[in-house]
Amino acid sequence: MDDKPEHNQTSLWELGSEGPPRAERAPQPEEGLTHAEEIFAEEARGGLEQPPAAQVATRGTLNMSEVPLEMRYRRPEAHALHVRLERLLGVVDLILTDNRRRMLSSKRGRKRIEIRIHHMFMGCDAQTVGAIADLLGGVSSARKGARAIIQGYIRDNRDAISFEPTDDELHTRGEFFNLATVLDEVVEGLEPAMRADLRAIGDIHITWGRRSQGNRSIRFGSYDFDRKLIRIHPALDRDWVPRYFVAFIIYHELLHALFPPISGCASSVEGTDSSGTSKRRLVHTPEFNAMERRFPDYQKAMRWEAANLRKILDQK
Ligand SMILES: [Zn+2]
Repeated sequence: MDDKPEHNQTSLWELGSEGPPRAERAPQPEEGLTHAEEIFAEEARGGLEQPPAAQVATRGTLNMSEVPLEMRYRRPEAHALHVRLERLLGVVDLILTDNRRRMLSSKRGRKRIEIRIHHMFMGCDAQTVGAIADLLGGVSSARKGARAIIQGYIRDNRDAISFEPTDDELHTRGEFFNLATVLDEVVEGLEPAMRADLRAIGDIHITWGRRSQGNRSIRFGSYDFDRKLIRIHPALDRDWVPRYFVAFIIYHELLHALFPPISGCASSVEGTDSSGTSKRRLVHTPEFNAMERRFPDYQKAMRWEAANLRKILDQK
């Protein structure tokens, strides 16, 4: 590549709490960039003057290595998107991502533009392609409308965003307990009906959480519905913590997966919390509590917690 993109990445659309996307650079229309009118012209021509995208070679590169394997068969769609972007933006190095937050970003070089875009945009309509081009290269007056179109597209296709954690986010192997193994044991011990319900939810992930500050209370575990992720407090990774207690906390969090809070306003719920009960009342329904008591070592776990809470808090 003779013309590497400069290190001036512009993040054009991110999901999450950061607020509206920021464009750090003022738009710099270049020769060869086209505007929205031409996109609609392309549509109006009905493709008669443009050969089908499949037959067009692109000048930039296409990279699908970040896309989940099961989606790579959609390369022709990715190629079509690439062709359409190049018609509007000149040479494009297109990288399809599986990002959770950053849906669209670009780096501009002198003669080419590198675009990182979520794979949900494969097969998007001409209006959306036009909006991407407007946002990346258009005049500033077109950017606001372009942003709204892209925002709408992301909203309509957010099911394509994987919220599930990747393997390197998961730390299952502690010093004394491998959470993946304990989780397997707990699932193995479930009543068949519960196991079937759990299977319907799909893979549930587990990880040791981060250490928290303060020693007045501890949340042994939590369950994140969006990410289908159980977090277990690292204070439980001790040789003097019995395996059945870790198993009990995991069982408790699995019950959260099986019995979501009915109000449905919280995306993650309190785990087994030694402090107060205000939040527990919302999520630990009578049905939940009845199921919790069916854990084979329930009484033992309760007794152990009561006898050792101080020690855990002191050493966490
Ligand atoms: Zn709970």
